[in-house]
Amino acid sequence: MTTYRLKGLDCPVCAGEIEEGIKKLEGVSSVSVDFGTLSMKVEALDLAAVEAAVARIEPGVSVERQDRGHGHDHGHDHGEGFNLRRELALFGAAVLLAAAAFALEATGAAQGLGRFGAWAAPLLFLAAYALAGWNVVAGAFRNILRGKVFDELFLMTIATFGAFAIGQFEEAVGVMVFYKIGEMLQERAAEKSRDSVRSLLELRPDTARLRRGGEWILVPAEEAAIGEEYLVLPGERIPLDGSVVAGEGLVDTQALTGEPTPRRAAPGAELLAGTLAVDGALTARAIRPAGESAAARIVELVENASHAKAKTERFVTRFARVYTPIVVVLAALIAFLPPLLFGRSLADWAYRALVMLVISCPCALVVSVPLGYFGGIGGAARRGILVKGATVLDALAEAKTVVFDKTGTLTKGVFKVLAVVPAAPPSAPGAFTEDGILKLAAAAESRSRHPIAASIREAARARGLSDGTEDEASLVRELPGHGVVAEIGGRRIVAGNDRLLHLENIPHASCAAEGTTVNVAVDGVYAGRVVIGDEPKADAADALRNLGRLGVRRAVMLTGDEACAAAPVAAALGIAEVHAGLLPGDKLERLESIIAETRAAGGSTLFVGDGVNDAPVLARADVGVAMGAGADAAVECADLVLMTDEPSRVAEAIERARRTRRIVRENIVFSLAIKAGFLALGALGVAVMWEAVIADVGVALLATLNATRAMK
Ligand code: ADP
Ligand code: MG
Repeated sequence: MTTYRLKGLDCPVCAGEIEEGIKKLEGVSSVSVDFGTLSMKVEALDLAAVEAAVARIEPGVSVERQDRGHGHDHGHDHGEGFNLRRELALFGAAVLLAAAAFALEATGAAQGLGRFGAWAAPLLFLAAYALAGWNVVAGAFRNILRGKVFDELFLMTIATFGAFAIGQFEEAVGVMVFYKIGEMLQERAAEKSRDSVRSLLELRPDTARLRRGGEWILVPAEEAAIGEEYLVLPGERIPLDGSVVAGEGLVDTQALTGEPTPRRAAPGAELLAGTLAVDGALTARAIRPAGESAAARIVELVENASHAKAKTERFVTRFARVYTPIVVVLAALIAFLPPLLFGRSLADWAYRALVMLVISCPCALVVSVPLGYFGGIGGAARRGILVKGATVLDALAEAKTVVFDKTGTLTKGVFKVLAVVPAAPPSAPGAFTEDGILKLAAAAESRSRHPIAASIREAARARGLSDGTEDEASLVRELPGHGVVAEIGGRRIVAGNDRLLHLENIPHASCAAEGTTVNVAVDGVYAGRVVIGDEPKADAADALRNLGRLGVRRAVMLTGDEACAAAPVAAALGIAEVHAGLLPGDKLERLESIIAETRAAGGSTLFVGDGVNDAPVLARADVGVAMGAGADAAVECADLVLMTDEPSRVAEAIERARRTRRIVRENIVFSLAIKAGFLALGALGVAVMWEAVIADVGVALLATLNATRAMK
């Protein structure tokens, strides 16, 4: 996949044409051109042919290769195609000439010029027209030469030429002048929403203070290698993703995660490039190269995101292509049929047809719909909600069911041993003590990477039971979703859940509601159990309340944990549907039936996971939501990535998606309704041409402004 920046791309229709043109080339497997980010992604054998094709299709557009992780500092380089100052100068001159022509006509001063008098005003109007409209006319001709007849430029051109033909000079000039105003305003609005996404990248400082040769020296952040130490002073932005090794202080992550309260960072904490060290000096070790930082990933995601076009967006492109020829044919019928059939005035009906043509330009739709989605995606990104495409926004807006993984998603995922409960009182013959059970459990779990195992080892260390003997343990096997079987000093130790002890045919006590139970058995005899707690996240209850408020009826919790431990957590959070004791494969199966049921009810299903071992489920859900930007596999599989680990962001994401879709729909309905109204007025002969143009520009502008609301 190669990404190009398209300089001088100034109309969404042209973006579509480039895409179509490239698609037809040989050896091109995929291509997508995005007007929102002025970029093109293409997968092709012969890139030179692609570059040449762009130059052929849109001569005004130049391409620039973009390499992953670099060159993101493209700032404001798209002034080539649309030079605001030049446009303003042309516009000003055109307005002055038109005003002079009006003055001549109004005052009758032209009479004083003798036989040139009659020509003075029309000539001034013509000059004004040329200044304001030359690029429209030129563009229309260029497109005709390239076999693409029906576009907005063509509509403007024949309408204004027609106006000249029937002597309506000032109208022709008016059309171009107002069109120009609209174009400039739209360009500004589009520019604003592009800038706000790009500003995310500008957050990341270009230089890092690295320790080199015993000294701190400033070097370009790109040169830092993984593992190198860097220093951030109070008030500075963090240049690289890293892990704190010394120092302590508050870090403001709002720019990336949308989290308004700064967090305290101490040795061991993770730092993200682009966030701000508020009050302390921090020394950290780089964990990722600059080009792969979380911030770079966000921008890459957002830029890729607008390439995955929503159905609505595709509809608009197709619509414009069918609609324009229909309007042209209709206009021709209006111009010629009444005069031919009923002997009406040709000039009158031709004028009506021309008004219709001017109004018919679907600019508002074509510009505002992609801009709306882009705004929605960009706005979400600034809150730490990374959406991988307009299609994802559509699916999110239709969410009816949200399925949560329990551990690490609704709960903190920080396990702590709460209690050790021996099977029999210490006085009983052959009974195990608390310490004895914990020590055996820690030894058995010494090779496991499950967080439960880590918490048991930690508790054993805290009680001074860890003397290195666990290294002697030889793991027989670890059964995912069950526990471990190990051999220590000739004894067979089983540590795991209810299911594992059943498998091993060992009678044992039932599980505890206070937390996850790890039963410990020695040589087939139940010794006791370790109870491990994992609290719900602070905002998990809010998250579910907010979903309910949004009308997401069905909230489900899936967990590999046992029902008696899962039920209290679900009850505390208000989740009615719990599927517990699931093996990883069961989760997928269960999710599939939930998806089918929700789809039958006309909704989409979200799966929210922390990304540890739920990649297949994330990939299968209509919208897979991965929490925390840490787990790379999850970031790849998910459709939505939350930079923070707050489940409440799920509701926010749905809300934003709905808002975006509402705005896009408003724009479609609004611009089509106004168009239809004015088309009718034009056909009836009520609307004057420049009323039509003002209406057209007004609609385009309102729709564009409305689209930028999706950003907020
Ligand atoms: P979750 O769905 O909560 O992420 P897992 O599939 O990782 O759960 O594990 C499910 C259950 O299997 C755990 O709640 C625990 O009872 C048991 N289990 C898994 N691995 C271990 C282990 N190493 N030691 C003890 N119990 C384990
Ligand atoms: Mg898990």
